[in-house]
Amino acid sequence: MRRRKRADADWRGGRTWSLVYPAGEKVDEVLAEANRLYLYENALNPMRFPSIKEMEKEVVDMTLGLLNAPKQAAGTMTSGGTESILLAVKTARNRGREEKGIDNPQILIPASAHPAFTKAGEYLGVEVCRIPLDKDLKADTAAAAGLITKDTVMMAGSAPNYPHGIIDPIEDLAAMAAERSIAFHTDACVGGFMLPFLERLGHDLPLWDFRVPGVTTISADVHKYGYATKGASVIAHRETAMLRHQMFLYDQWPGGLYGSPAMAGARPAAPIATAWAVMNYLGEEGYLRLAAKTFKTTRALRTGIQAIDGLKIWGQPEATVLSFGSASLDIMAVGDVMDERGWHLDRQNNPDALHMIVSPNHARIVADFLDDLAQAVAGHGASKGKQARYN
Ligand SMILES: *Cc1c(COP(=O)(O)O)cnc(C)c1O
Repeated sequence: MRRRKRADADWRGGRTWSLVYPAGEKVDEVLAEANRLYLYENALNPMRFPSIKEMEKEVVDMTLGLLNAPKQAAGTMTSGGTESILLAVKTARNRGREEKGIDNPQILIPASAHPAFTKAGEYLGVEVCRIPLDKDLKADTAAAAGLITKDTVMMAGSAPNYPHGIIDPIEDLAAMAAERSIAFHTDACVGGFMLPFLERLGHDLPLWDFRVPGVTTISADVHKYGYATKGASVIAHRETAMLRHQMFLYDQWPGGLYGSPAMAGARPAAPIATAWAVMNYLGEEGYLRLAAKTFKTTRALRTGIQAIDGLKIWGQPEATVLSFGSASLDIMAVGDVMDERGWHLDRQNNPDALHMIVSPNHARIVADFLDDLAQAVAGHGASKGKQARYN
């Protein structure tokens, strides 16, 4: 295993720009210890392991606090952003069926929304319609209004989106949804544990959380900027009453009442434990420190990228995710040189771009990265023609 692992991407060295969100050696120790402590338990039945139930409740409550949720809010932990989004779509689908008798449900998502929504549509029998982006790469609100039908059960926006790090006009979109009693999901998978701290640090950001009246559910991944190891996300509901649409309950088997809020049956306890441990270890103060460091690093990278002739940041990313490209250069060819130098930048299309999710760990590689990027721009060959690829 150790030998094979040498071929894997060097995330500890700050060479990856997605997938892992390292927050330093002390945090790594806390995560390893929490993982060890809860390696064997099963989160399926909270009666057997009350400590897991307590930790899940506390992680959800802390997250609801960050999301400015009202008193009657509730949530559960899931295995990741994709499962949180699947459950938000399931909730909206079942609610639309119950409240409005909608049999052919449809959801409206920005063209930049994460593929998890389309996956949810495929799994749950929900049609997915894409809202085109405006010139700033935000969901076009006028176009969205024209796409709403009597079968629309949910609208969504990202805060921020994964491809460009841009926050959709959540207030406008959610108002449209609220007017028609349609559910609205804010996808804060990547932003949920970053934007609240940037706001506390004095950044002027548009509203996207439960302070926006029409927002009914929010997904926030603890395994991204919450710095937990993989398998930890929160799905938050404005109204506890809506949780019943997420729940699966069954008693027509010999085993008695079987209740499950998640897609999985048996659930690992370790991700709940690591989420709880890292949140308590860092506290608000620790997250603020890491958010400040990550934002400062992002600003240095942005400034450096923009200073290289021919390169351009796409749109106005508000947080610590961004994409950049060029009107004059073949950005994919630039990416090929960066690959050869060991930087793992994902490719994107529409517009052609290289993609970066900045983590606290990147503070120490800013100068090396920008040097390599400048050289790649000055001396790249023809593109090897790699298409946009996620991971
Ligand atoms: C990461 C991400 C997701 C999906 O989360 P997974 O944990 O990979 O399943 C969804 N939406 C956004 C905006 C994301 O950044």
